[in-house]
Amino acid sequence: MSIPQSFIQELLARTDVVEIVGRYVQLKKGGANFMGLCPFHGEKSPSFSVSPSKQFYHCFGCGKNGNAIGFLMDHAGMGFVEAVQDLAQQVGLQVPDDDVSPQERERAAAARQKQATLTDVLEKAGDAYRRQLRESQRAIAYFKGRGVSGAVAKRYGLGYAPEGWRSLASVFPRYDDPLLEESGLVIVGEEGQDKRYDRFRDRVMFPIRNVKGECIGFGGRVLGDDKPKYLNSPETPVFHKGRELYGLFEARTAIREQGYALVTEGYMDVVALAQLGFPNAVATLGTACTPEHVHKLLRFTDAVVFSFDGDGAGRRAARKALDGALPHATDTRSIKFLFLPAEHDPDSFIREHGTDAFARHVGEAVPLSRFLVESASEGCDLATAEGRAHMASNARPLWTALPDGVLKRQLLGELAELTQLNARDLSELWNPGGSREPARAPAPAPRAQPPAASPYADEPPWGEAASDLDGWHPPHEPDYVGGGGSPGGYEDYPGGGHGGGGGKPPFRKNGGGDWKKGGGNGKWSKRDKDAPWPPQPRLPRTPAMGRADHAARLLLSHMGFLEELTHDDHTALCAQPAPHGPLFTWLEAQFHEHGPLAWAVLRESLRDHECEELAVKVMTGAHAQTEGELAELRLELRDLLNRMLIEGIKEEQKLLVLQAAKDPTALERYRVLEQKRVVLLGVGPKAA
Ligand SMILES: [Zn+2]
Repeated sequence: MSIPQSFIQELLARTDVVEIVGRYVQLKKGGANFMGLCPFHGEKSPSFSVSPSKQFYHCFGCGKNGNAIGFLMDHAGMGFVEAVQDLAQQVGLQVPDDDVSPQERERAAAARQKQATLTDVLEKAGDAYRRQLRESQRAIAYFKGRGVSGAVAKRYGLGYAPEGWRSLASVFPRYDDPLLEESGLVIVGEEGQDKRYDRFRDRVMFPIRNVKGECIGFGGRVLGDDKPKYLNSPETPVFHKGRELYGLFEARTAIREQGYALVTEGYMDVVALAQLGFPNAVATLGTACTPEHVHKLLRFTDAVVFSFDGDGAGRRAARKALDGALPHATDTRSIKFLFLPAEHDPDSFIREHGTDAFARHVGEAVPLSRFLVESASEGCDLATAEGRAHMASNARPLWTALPDGVLKRQLLGELAELTQLNARDLSELWNPGGSREPARAPAPAPRAQPPAASPYADEPPWGEAASDLDGWHPPHEPDYVGGGGSPGGYEDYPGGGHGGGGGKPPFRKNGGGDWKKGGGNGKWSKRDKDAPWPPQPRLPRTPAMGRADHAARLLLSHMGFLEELTHDDHTALCAQPAPHGPLFTWLEAQFHEHGPLAWAVLRESLRDHECEELAVKVMTGAHAQTEGELAELRLELRDLLNRMLIEGIKEEQKLLVLQAAKDPTALERYRVLEQKRVVLLGVGPKAA
């Protein structure tokens, strides 16, 4: 969805950052500004300041700063569009979106309204469950028996759903209200309306909150040994198990302070861990960990430790989590797996061995790279060729799911060594024909899911719109953990800072066995011996890159077009990043000196010039089609130039938006550019 910048301006003008931040941080007036404890780093005395006049927040401790939208993104973990929608709803504005029909807009508004109603209903039930907990000695005794203090119970909003089939009838004015069924609180029997009853009966209740803190469902646990032990709310318009993490709302500040998130298997684990000194724990909701879970978590931290019970079920759950984590395992992130002894869950482990022992286990957790290799090798006898081949076939989908980067390349080397192939052969085997294709037929970077099915639809898509997002992000601070030397930070744990380098897997290596030398039967023969090592799936070229290539092609073949360009066009061309910008500059100089020249002449002048390679590249190869009606080519060039101009305007506007809070002239300039942009959008065939 594309949101016009003018709307963002209006939205920011109508919202008060003090009020938005104040919902999450306790603020006190101090002089012209408001001060509070920074939600982004742990501190005892306030260094977090919010300025009502500048509509900006700034932390003098950790340097985080931004406007209301940035705060919602950074603190509440919302995506850009989500944050804009959230703010818009509060000030009663409708987010305009050119891509959406009025009907769709109406439907979306109705869905949002419905969601708000459902969370209200759930909130009310949660209040009732909390009241009931105070009345129930049994439920209180249960929590006390698990070591849960009143403070932690309050923080997680724990409650109790009493015995009896229709306890909620005393909470809501109409027990047959369809919302009770829709929210999952009440079950309607197949026989009909009079067979209604409460879903949760005689259970301790764990409200499940979204990142905004709204109640979206419940988990309920029996007090004794009845079955089922755990019961969750069903999927509803507000609750999606595959997307939500229990405890994330409560843990988000601790996750930032500790520098990592601990993912466990159940809500009792989360509450117990919070009680025992690990408030940065979250849990999946009776489902396997999905890529969406991992994605959500990684909005809050770059380091995730999955904790699993040491039994077979825990191992299987870990394997699922590995699958979920792989697409997100970029080089700057740390993803690890912690396996407790078979008889333990985190709660029982800490009780028996203490907090320090658990922290040590966290520090010694297995890096994703090693767990990947271990998982692929499971059940494979690496002493035999068959076993090694089996391992390689297990490893392939795992390795393929990784995003391109140093980690992926290193793993290729390691897996090759284990299979006794060289990395080039293994890569070729896994990526046939992918090594020497011309750059213009890019193999898409491996993704776990096709973009169309992307669950992150609420975020700006990659590419152009993603750069809109950049403008709003307060600068990323990778030194956040280490910088302050914060005690208890991730790096303080032994082995915590080692990323993927921790230890080699204990597999036998027979060394030196090169497949080609050993059994060169030609079956896996190479198509191209000079393939660069190690060949990688190519990243798609950016559209801007192709655009500049194409413009260069048109101008090199029809140099006379240069005369028809405007001043803005010239500036935009020469401002293109190298090598394109320098090539255009050079071409203009040639034009002023010699007038229009044929490509053959230009080709000669370019010898040993820094732009030679680019010019020759765009003028040769399959796409070097420069024939056609002059009028048509002219239009093509105009279209390319308009896109470049629009892109330049967008870049400048992004900076202006950031300056707008401090500098009123920035807004003026913004408006001028916006008018220009609108004009450009109307010119030429189908501009961006
Ligand atoms: Zn701070």
